[in-house]
Amino acid sequence: MLHPPHQSLQVAAVPPQPVRERDQDAPWHTEAVCRRDEAGLFFAPSKEPTAARLSREEAAKRVCARCPVMIECREHALLQPEPYGVWGGLTAAERRVVLARRRRHDVELQKATRPAGTIAAAG
Ligand code: SF4
Repeated sequence: MLHPPHQSLQVAAVPPQPVRERDQDAPWHTEAVCRRDEAGLFFAPSKEPTAARLSREEAAKRVCARCPVMIECREHALLQPEPYGVWGGLTAAERRVVLARRRRHDVELQKATRPAGTIAAAG
């Protein structure tokens, strides 16, 4: 598992920045905005109340929204898959939904591209 790029520093101390072009030669996580942010913003402490979780996740998503590697981060988290935390602007629950949709899409695609008669021949 890739270590999350989140490092310690208060989110409030980082002013909003426009999303910028990224250096394609550098590993994606070296440009992660959350390297400067509070690690606790992205991962739930134990026994976190629902309202606090929702608020924390929204704050984490605001950090992700200005991150130049959001797409790379999201795909990394989906491919692993990372079971916890906010990655690429998605919570763990949202990533499970995306993965389920992708699986459904893959199944539909396989059905649509299967040569006619293969189901009957296999049975
Ligand atoms: S998208 Fe979010 S979690 Fe991913 S590297 Fe950027 S700030 Fe961190």
